[in-house]
Amino acid sequence: MIIVMKKGASDAQLAEVKKRISELGYQSHVIHGETRNVVGAVGDERGKEILQSLEVLPGVENVVPILKPFKLASREIRAEPSCFELAPGVMIGGDALVVMAGPCAVESEEQLLSAAIAVKAAGATVLRGGAFKPRSSPYSFQGLEEEGLKLLDRVRSVTGLPIVTEVVNPRDVELVGRYADIMQVGARNVQNFALLKMLGQLGKPVLLKRGMSTTIQEFLMSAEYILSEGNQRVVLCERGIRTFETATRNTLDISAVPVLKELSHLPVIIDPSHATGHASLVAPMSYAAVAAGADGLIIEVHPHPELASCDGPQSLRPEDFALVMAKLREYAVVAGRKL
Ligand code: PEP
Ligand code: MN
Repeated sequence: MIIVMKKGASDAQLAEVKKRISELGYQSHVIHGETRNVVGAVGDERGKEILQSLEVLPGVENVVPILKPFKLASREIRAEPSCFELAPGVMIGGDALVVMAGPCAVESEEQLLSAAIAVKAAGATVLRGGAFKPRSSPYSFQGLEEEGLKLLDRVRSVTGLPIVTEVVNPRDVELVGRYADIMQVGARNVQNFALLKMLGQLGKPVLLKRGMSTTIQEFLMSAEYILSEGNQRVVLCERGIRTFETATRNTLDISAVPVLKELSHLPVIIDPSHATGHASLVAPMSYAAVAAGADGLIIEVHPHPELASCDGPQSLRPEDFALVMAKLREYAVVAGRKL
């Protein structure tokens, strides 16, 4: 249920509403709007009528049900898009597009630093790089693990770029959380509910990737797991879904951007690298993402894609990434965004 406060309702009135919600056995989540606050009361659906009685409290305008199964992620609870800080100076969900770029996997200091310097020079504001890699084969390179996190930390201190890196296993949340600015949940873990809950409690921004077979509703329910633990900083990432088509690694569901934006206030970004699997397709899909209303992109860039230990065929060379960024600036203007 959503408890809509009156314009100018006092802090004491808001506190009383929160107290009553908790007494009734529900969790309250306050969404601060420009003109008024709303309080989401989430919990057992069966007690809706009891919550309706909060309508009589001073400062309450009305109490309305949230119809969608995803409550805190929905537009019903928050009509305007969420805009929040990913790291100092990097906002997502506002006018400025956020481009995250870097190698699929951290391989060495030289590789990571050279990628980071190049992507920063081209205008990326977040460095990506996997230290824990969820590989389809147990015989493939699994990542440098903590050594990789240390390299990310070192390169961040040299370049100033905040880092997004994946946490694969719930037992590593604390470790990865010590290094990462943004915690990435990969496609394969989108319904690892134990992991999602832990990230909800950790409180760092989460980049949540859509699974290859996840519906939009399932995707938003996964986001809800994080939000319902009290962490409101969730970025949704469409990275391609599995279809009958084999010309591309996955099929980029570009319509997921406007669909998610209709249903949810959360920022949405596109990963054109994993969506297509081919470096030559990254540029057109990046432009399409901006045209569709995405809030940003995450792109794989490697100083020597032919030597990459992971995802070389879809990785851009630094000079090609710079060309994509230059063109993206033109598309951004048309889309009413800044880059
Ligand atoms: C990645 O970003 O390196 C990755 C493994 O992506 P996904 O989870 O989308 O496959
Ligand atoms: Mn990859």
